[in-house]
Amino acid sequence: MTLVVKKILSLFEQMPAVEGRLRADADLSKVTWFQVGGSADVLFKPKDEDDLSNFLIKLSTDIPVFTLGVGSNLLVRDDGFRGVVLRLGREFTKMEIVNDTCIRIGAGALDINVAKFAGEAGLTGAEFLSGIPGAIGGALRMNAGAYGTEMKDIVLSVVAYDRQGKRHELCPADMGFSYRHCDIPLDWIFTEAMIQLQKGNKSDIGERMKEISKNREDSQPIKSRTGGSTFANPEGKKAWELIDAVGARGLTIGNAQISDKHCNFLINKGGATAADIEAVGEEARRRVFKEFDTLLRWEIVRIGDPLLPKEKQDQGAKK
Ligand SMILES: Cc1cc2nc3c(=O)[nH]c(=O)nc-3n(C[C@H](O)[C@H](O)[C@H](O)COP(=O)(O)OP(=O)(O)OC[C@H]3O[C@@H](n4cnc5c(N)ncnc54)[C@H](O)[C@@H]3O)c2cc1C
Repeated sequence: MTLVVKKILSLFEQMPAVEGRLRADADLSKVTWFQVGGSADVLFKPKDEDDLSNFLIKLSTDIPVFTLGVGSNLLVRDDGFRGVVLRLGREFTKMEIVNDTCIRIGAGALDINVAKFAGEAGLTGAEFLSGIPGAIGGALRMNAGAYGTEMKDIVLSVVAYDRQGKRHELCPADMGFSYRHCDIPLDWIFTEAMIQLQKGNKSDIGERMKEISKNREDSQPIKSRTGGSTFANPEGKKAWELIDAVGARGLTIGNAQISDKHCNFLINKGGATAADIEAVGEEARRRVFKEFDTLLRWEIVRIGDPLLPKEKQDQGAKK
């Protein structure tokens, strides 16, 4: 038995008893959009909020925990994640209308399903979610937004669990939303959100969602193995314009590429490693800094230990 396998098994043996599913050595490349990266030592799918809370209460605080949504904004590095990855299952995808114009949503519900549910109920304000391929927990964490609306504009309240398993009810001010960011500690887990919408016209809402879908297909590589916008737009500037201006459109390292279609998107052309993807992003970032003195901030969340990205960067970035 190798040392790595021994370590994983020893961590697995430290897992508290649960009602949901625990899996050792779970391949994360199968559950992220980029389809790269290594395994999580343990993957835990809680049965419900009580199961989640009990697990966190009993889990040693030395063990790192990361919550995965549907991996549309995530780069898992090649060596994987040492600790527990949490994933919310079916129990966390429920939606219900409250007080005519609010929707209570499980944080595991897909954004697109929330947009459709709202549309079918004749509620407007959530159409932007139809173009974001994540789940609500990820949308809260990232303050996801498109076409001028962000989560911060519709969130009324959020339920979250801290690393010690304590339940919190948060109001918008607690969330500290800003551009593609919220202030809640990274190891807290969102389980539910309440959003406020307005009464609208069903067919107008449907038309708006069709428009969004068409717009996305025309401008983004949505059928590729990608992670969405790689870098946040710096104040007053567009990340894609800066990347384009330094000649990085189409830049390739290994099997990772800066998209020709939208140069703030990184793409796994097939068989790329996470290190290739990170290296091509870093190369664009380096060029932008050199040319414009602007340091791009990674919007894509990266987990796991970096694997010699510097060395990779120096290996022939080519157009
Ligand atoms: C083709 C494409 C287009 C995109 N377009 C947009 C866009 O227009 N606007 C936009 O904002 N984003 C866009 N994205 C990025 C991405 O879809 C969003 O950031 C989305 O909100 C991420 O949700 P997720 O469930 O995939 O989260 P993941 O990628 O799995 O995780 C992202 C972060 O959220 C955290 N997280 C996930 N679930 C929870 C939870 N329950 N509790 C606490 N933390 C959690 C993770 O720990 C991680 O830090 C796009 C991505 C792609 C691939």
